[in-house]
Amino acid sequence: MGKCVHCFKELVEVTRDHIFPSSWYTDNTPQNIQRLTVPSCRECNEKFGKLEQKLFMRLVPCIDPTKAEMSGITKKLFHTYTKNPRFLKWLKENLKPYTKDKKPFPGLGPHEGFPLESQSYIPAPVDLLPPVLEKIFRGLEYKFEQRLMKEPYALKIYHVFEEPEEIKKLLSHKSKKDISFGPGFSVERIVPTNMKEPVIYKTIIWGTFISYASVVKKR
Ligand SMILES: [Zn+2]
Repeated sequence: MGKCVHCFKELVEVTRDHIFPSSWYTDNTPQNIQRLTVPSCRECNEKFGKLEQKLFMRLVPCIDPTKAEMSGITKKLFHTYTKNPRFLKWLKENLKPYTKDKKPFPGLGPHEGFPLESQSYIPAPVDLLPPVLEKIFRGLEYKFEQRLMKEPYALKIYHVFEEPEEIKKLLSHKSKKDISFGPGFSVERIVPTNMKEPVIYKTIIWGTFISYASVVKKR
């Protein structure tokens, strides 16, 4: 039956884990866009489902709801709040002010054009984002290459405030988008000519969160 893409255990029962969580798709996503999934064990699927939900509730309030890449997402968040009214209280208690030298995450803020003291953020996404992003990249690489992210392959994630020049150059020349996920998610994948060079990914979630990943083959 194959292996779980996340924990690599031999599957006794196959569940389908969405590469990008199904509830994270914008309402302007075309009908013909497939919500792609990868094989996962039930345990991993449920574990990541919970993390994704937690992250959704904490990230979405920090994003500009007027962006086309966010269409319908903020509305979904309000449904989530209605189902979980205690969360609003938690949110108010956990908002932190930005300080001049505090940059919690690329894209998260502070946002230009608004006074610093009028802005706040929730620290939790910084801890929740890496496992969810890793899960997304593992799913993507499985979809593109049927490759599991275990020996001899290794996945690394990068969050940078400024895109490195080399990456900028590579993206402008070689980037190809093989799979469209609709306006909410942008995926670019740079494929090297041999596996001595890493595969490089750049993803943008809701036009806001920019992440890079590399897949290297150890010798
Ligand atoms: Zn698993």
